[in-house]
Amino acid sequence: MQTSLADFIRDTPDGREADAILRKCVHCGFCTATCPTYLLLGDENDSPRGRIYLVKQLLEGVEVTARTQLHLDRCLTCRACETTCPSGVRYGRLADIGRKLVAERVARPWRQQARRRVLAAVLRRRLLFGALLRLGQLTRPFLPPRLAAGVPAPAPAPGAWPPARHARKMLVLAGCVQPSLAPRTNAAAARVLDRIGISLIEAAGAGCCGALRFHLDYQQHGLEDARALIDAWWPHVEKGVEAVVVTASGCGAQVKEYGHLLARDPHYAEKAARISAMTRDIAEVLEAEFDRLEPLLEKTGGRVAFHPPCSLQHGQNIKGLTERLLARAGFELTPVPDAHLCCGSAGTYSILQPELSRRLKRNKLAALASGDPRTVATSNIGCQIHLADASAVPVTHWVTLLEERLGPASSTIGR
Ligand code: SF4
Ligand code: SF4
Repeated sequence: MQTSLADFIRDTPDGREADAILRKCVHCGFCTATCPTYLLLGDENDSPRGRIYLVKQLLEGVEVTARTQLHLDRCLTCRACETTCPSGVRYGRLADIGRKLVAERVARPWRQQARRRVLAAVLRRRLLFGALLRLGQLTRPFLPPRLAAGVPAPAPAPGAWPPARHARKMLVLAGCVQPSLAPRTNAAAARVLDRIGISLIEAAGAGCCGALRFHLDYQQHGLEDARALIDAWWPHVEKGVEAVVVTASGCGAQVKEYGHLLARDPHYAEKAARISAMTRDIAEVLEAEFDRLEPLLEKTGGRVAFHPPCSLQHGQNIKGLTERLLARAGFELTPVPDAHLCCGSAGTYSILQPELSRRLKRNKLAALASGDPRTVATSNIGCQIHLADASAVPVTHWVTLLEERLGPASSTIGR
């Protein structure tokens, strides 16, 4: 694609990056076939190709309007288009650059601004979010049905976290909402890894990965969260932890981008690159260790439909791995049509774009249920909670299912 960037952006790092991305796009439109919003709305401006064109116009100095912002807001940042694109167009980065510029030029109505501010302020504060969630769960019977429907049911107890007794150690990201919404996920990961001689540890003071604020028009604040998390992890990195393990693929995709996002920060570039290089989704860690885990598993798994989050399959480019591990662990994977399409969770999208999100959820739940599973498994807290509230079968993180397949604790390896 030919470009002619305007003076305000041409010789900036963002301008150069965006220009390189734009020039790769040949306008073929293959990406429209897998874009959830284009499939629902049929509007070129709600397709990747249309949004790329909108960002190109913005970078070339064409005046942006609230319509431009709306079409970018409707994008789920699922990155299915990146997986489909034969030219390697990094749409996600282009969207980030475009959104930042649009936010600087188009003032949102005060209601939208207030909602975004509240989300950015509350969701990333683990204790505050946990307290509000508990309050919502206690008062749920007295709330109007529409409000009550938005309050997730209380989560199963996490169970005991094993002591850090092994020489092999890995860090785990606690995250912001997961400890309240699904505290068992990381505890189950810690117990599974403990059985094969790896201690999983949470760093004191480690908070949100920054994805939340980064994708709510507060990109600089999102980078501050990233720096704070690197600071909390760094002493453990220096002590020799093998990896940073992430059980929420949305957060994992963000942490794996730290090296790129902080590449121009002289104080953090090197550390950020190292953190990104050592970050692994829990499936990547378990794949490497599965030969040792397999003898400890009792192969009596049931029928499971796996929902691969976009942040896993498109964001981190991890495709089919979790499904293979579940199959090796004795689960029967049921077929799921259109597994490449987003469920409509997409961070805060389900709150900010409720209508589109509901339609995507309905389609996804029908696809997941079509193979008659007993459980739906996934690997991102956002998708898990989003799907669980309307699913006919339980929705859980797959590592909790894996833990249930483990035999007696006496068979631990590598103590
Ligand atoms: S982003 Fe890729 S698939 Fe989409 S129009 Fe451009 S080159 Fe084609
Ligand atoms: S990120 Fe997803 S919703 Fe956005 S343009 Fe690409 S495919 Fe469509």
